[in-house]
Amino acid sequence: MELKHITEGVAYIPGAVNVGVIINGDKATLIDTGLDRDSGRNIRRLLEAEGIKITAIVNTHSHADHFGGNDYLVRNTGAEVYASSVEAGIIQNPLLEPIYLFHGAAPIRNLRNKFVLAKPSPVHHILETGMTTIEDRKLMIVPLPGHSFNQIGVLVDDVLFCADAVFSGRVIEKYRIPVVQDVGSHRETLKTLRETSHTLYVPSHTEPTGDITALVDVNLGVVESITSDILGLLDEPKTVSEIQSGLCTGYGLDLDVVQQYYLIHTTLMAYLGHLYEEKTIEIKLEDNTLRWSKAR
Ligand SMILES: [Zn+2]
Repeated sequence: MELKHITEGVAYIPGAVNVGVIINGDKATLIDTGLDRDSGRNIRRLLEAEGIKITAIVNTHSHADHFGGNDYLVRNTGAEVYASSVEAGIIQNPLLEPIYLFHGAAPIRNLRNKFVLAKPSPVHHILETGMTTIEDRKLMIVPLPGHSFNQIGVLVDDVLFCADAVFSGRVIEKYRIPVVQDVGSHRETLKTLRETSHTLYVPSHTEPTGDITALVDVNLGVVESITSDILGLLDEPKTVSEIQSGLCTGYGLDLDVVQQYYLIHTTLMAYLGHLYEEKTIEIKLEDNTLRWSKAR
């Protein structure tokens, strides 16, 4: 683990989740905390070795791999946590993540591992988008909804920590159906990002880049291709299971992790919901079976 400086007061710690570090004297505000206790402990050790104390945490969204280190860090540093509404609800009640993945029912044990169920963390401050001051530093909270309902990014010294608004081509190639919870707002977020020209962008799961255009185009492209592949399956009415199976098989996936199945299921529901709201597809409820098909 290492601290990579970007500007005088802005750095990040590269990892499975890149963690932003906004430094003010001997104090630091983190942007996300990684998956678990180990990530929290490693971040704390690294910064304390540099004489820096963690006093605040901004969480970009409520997926377990982004706030799983909160519990350890809040207990051991007393840092105060900032998050947007909705996301804050899940960070404080993380069982809501596997609950929504399991359609609102009590989640099965396959959905109770640390990748989808983090330890609860307090949230001390609800963030609104726009300018804000945290630990005497002026930050811009940028709305990036879509991947998660109320995901936010942090802009500081013209460096945009843009969370999971974009994934790298490599990650997309591996997972094929990247998690999106609201397809319409995800697409708008990508189009808005494309118009920006900040000095540096730091996505959570890939290397920082000075030009976000290529990443945005890859991510917009995957939304379009998934949309057209779903529509390609809907000449005949199909159940969600049939659509998911057709889509995954078409992409050469061979799912063997139950939680992966449910993440794709939720993402597929986001696509179906979006297409339904645009009146591109319709619902047929017949013989007690709900099927989706192209609108006539
Ligand atoms: Zn995420």
